[in-house]
Amino acid sequence: MKIFHLSAECYPVAKVGGLADVVGSLPKYQNMAGLQAAVVMPYYDRKFTRENEFDIVFNAATLLDTKRLYFEILKEKTNKLGFELFLVRIPGLLDRENVYSYPDEREQFIAFQLAFLDWISYSQQTPDIIHCHDHHSGLVPFLLYHSKLYRRLANTPTVFTIHNGQYHGAFGWEHLSYLPEIDLTQTGLLDWAGGINPLASAVKCCWRYTTVSPTYLHELSINSNGLEYLFWIESAKGYGIINGIDTEVWNPKTDTMIAGNFTSKSIAKGKQVNKDALCERFGLDPNKPLFTFIGRLVIEKGADLLPEAIELSLMDPAEEASFLILGSGDTEMETALLELKEKYPGRYNVFIGYDEALAHLIYAGADFLLMPSRVEPCGLNQLYSLRYGTMPLVRSTGGLIDSVIDFGDEGGYGIRFNNASVADINHSVSRACALYQNTVLLQQLRKRMMALDFSWDRSAKEYINLYESLNPTI
Ligand code: ADP
Repeated sequence: MKIFHLSAECYPVAKVGGLADVVGSLPKYQNMAGLQAAVVMPYYDRKFTRENEFDIVFNAATLLDTKRLYFEILKEKTNKLGFELFLVRIPGLLDRENVYSYPDEREQFIAFQLAFLDWISYSQQTPDIIHCHDHHSGLVPFLLYHSKLYRRLANTPTVFTIHNGQYHGAFGWEHLSYLPEIDLTQTGLLDWAGGINPLASAVKCCWRYTTVSPTYLHELSINSNGLEYLFWIESAKGYGIINGIDTEVWNPKTDTMIAGNFTSKSIAKGKQVNKDALCERFGLDPNKPLFTFIGRLVIEKGADLLPEAIELSLMDPAEEASFLILGSGDTEMETALLELKEKYPGRYNVFIGYDEALAHLIYAGADFLLMPSRVEPCGLNQLYSLRYGTMPLVRSTGGLIDSVIDFGDEGGYGIRFNNASVADINHSVSRACALYQNTVLLQQLRKRMMALDFSWDRSAKEYINLYESLNPTI
């Protein structure tokens, strides 16, 4: 069964967030289960593309309105990622360093999708499933079924996975001419709220859509940045499948990015070695409970609540917590977090930026991970922290509900709170500080966390079952 995963990100080629982790691991596990899954993504000018070798397997020109764009399909030579990796290179448009935020982002991702379709169409390939991820490849289902150019592929089943329903990639009707040879009686399938909405179009046109956790599937009809009604009417073809993690990349026993490897048997010593390294680097006290936050500094993640919540805790003479933040995003939030650094040296530090290796060390060395998210489709941070015996403190939303049980409940191992508020964060930090004093219980809970199985094995199977239900020829 030949599956093409289409995505803007894929670890380790180019990563901005969890989308990359999923697209960099799910196909690998699908291949281990006997499928033939490949990833197709834009060619960016990054370390991975500069340092690896590729074959040019196809080249042609596609038309973006009246503009002729030359493109190449490059294939990574060794398949060392556990899947075939194809990169769409469009000189001058896609071969830049960053994944997002260019003023012509719309043209970039439309051209990426057209080049992909031209390639499989002209090279006479017949994929069993085309699996699109997020709005950057959201126009593919519409084009497959309603553009004359791709008629040969019109029976190809499509699956669309929503990693984040807040971002739609919407644009105005004046750009309709970017979509070639389409059936103009079907343009309603592109529309939402008076514009062309790639996320909405994908949900309407795909054969099945999935969300990255079961709870998020239901939440989309309550909160999806204006698409609530759409999700409500399309819910019959929606499936919630929780993300897995790549247990080879995220393994405290073998991780080369941390200060000392450990297993659940050597957890106390192992975590302390990593905590010591972390505290030395950031001038913190390794004997105090260490709380962390890793992620994008945006409202969605509740990062705006952190400065006040952290300061309240640091000012409380009864509490001993120290904090280390890793992230970047909103400049106001970055500034507020940097300001605390001057005020509380020795108890608080922050690293503004993106650092994959530091993230691994923090998951290994911190005691507690804060996730006060307002929206969390799945969340991978809590899964990584559990794997490294770091207790997640999470707001009860989306995938956090599906993956974290409060330690006060039967079989629990984390801390859950209801509101994305300073008060709820503080209350949870206090609970964690009290737990930190109970070393025996903390130790038991850490072992319980590390024994949990969030590998892809189960979820990859659910995707395979879904594919098989769509393509009975397999
Ligand atoms: P998102 O909504 O950002 O995709 P996820 O929890 O699904 O959130 O995934 C976030 C991923 O990005 C995790 O692998 C996390 O470790 C990583 N990450 C986020 N911010 C940073 C950062 N500043 N430095 C290193 N890794 C980061």
